[in-house]
Amino acid sequence: MNRNLNSRRPRTLYFQPGERNIFLHLLTACNLSCRHCYINPAQHGSGTLARSTLEEWLTLFADPGKKSNVIFLGGEPTLHPDLVHGVRYAQQLGYQGITIDTNGFLHHDLLARLRPEEAVLSFSLDGPDPAINDPLRGAGVFATATANLKQAVAKGFDVSLIFTASRLNIEHLPRMPALLAELGCRRFFIQVIGLRGKSAADPASTADDPLQLTPDQWLEVVPKVAAEAAARGIQVIYPKVYLEPDEPFQCAGRLGGNFFIFPNGRVYLCPLCEDFPLNALRLENGELRENPGITERKLFNLDIPEGCVMNKLLQPGNIAYNPDGTPRHRISCCLLKQEIG
Ligand code: SF4
Ligand code: SF4
Repeated sequence: MNRNLNSRRPRTLYFQPGERNIFLHLLTACNLSCRHCYINPAQHGSGTLARSTLEEWLTLFADPGKKSNVIFLGGEPTLHPDLVHGVRYAQQLGYQGITIDTNGFLHHDLLARLRPEEAVLSFSLDGPDPAINDPLRGAGVFATATANLKQAVAKGFDVSLIFTASRLNIEHLPRMPALLAELGCRRFFIQVIGLRGKSAADPASTADDPLQLTPDQWLEVVPKVAAEAAARGIQVIYPKVYLEPDEPFQCAGRLGGNFFIFPNGRVYLCPLCEDFPLNALRLENGELRENPGITERKLFNLDIPEGCVMNKLLQPGNIAYNPDGTPRHRISCCLLKQEIG
């Protein structure tokens, strides 16, 4: 296979009508306390889904006529005692892609109870070694997560690794492809830190030393690292973030194929809205109901030159302007990804 970097071009994964992704937060509790944790107990509560509710909600969102994926999240979803049951229940309901996003601790002996073909395991790691990762995610986390990832690979699981890039670790991102290769992990998701949960409340986010990346920091580092990982045979998926002048703007919220579900029944169509009671939908008494009044849906329909409305409202510092006042880049939907490899 040709591993020439120049022969590889990232392609944009535009949203496909009919494709559905169900992001199901089973609980908000976690054994870790990451610096940039996006969970917001004030908005999402501290509940854990009962087994019967888990079954009910998976059934409500099932649509076997369409390609539906479910992603089990938390908190830490492997802390939920019914996770394996939920995976099998989702499979029976016709969900096609089933993924568990884990911090790597794999509670309740997950690797012994789940079969490799039943779910993809996506491990979070924010640095290529303990010195970078552990100050962000917790002491000893690098060792545990990488040991469990290796074990999952050895057992035949399809695994991926998620790296959340911020100013605190972006300079170490170039060392990640070698780590993935060493771990035997063939899929790499690079995320950009968002202003949600703890990172929104972190004083460093608003002072001179913010967690947030500038456009230049992102553009200088991420595409190069993605190309290098692709040259090693790793599939890399990373947010588009900045649209080229000729690229169309798409708001995933307008298409309505992504559902971010929390244990307190809130259902968002846009993850950037999760820190606010702007959810378009709610689960109540076994039904999915539309919320009245001003919700995220109203915002999706605003057309602005900066692209994503929620980014403009929440992260205006991410937008650079030309001297004539026009934005230098339009910001893409945070759910729009590029793929290489
Ligand atoms: S980011 Fe994930 S692993 Fe870290 S504390 Fe939050 S829920 Fe737990
Ligand atoms: S991130 Fe922006 S573009 Fe994407 S769904 Fe939310 S409001 Fe729409």
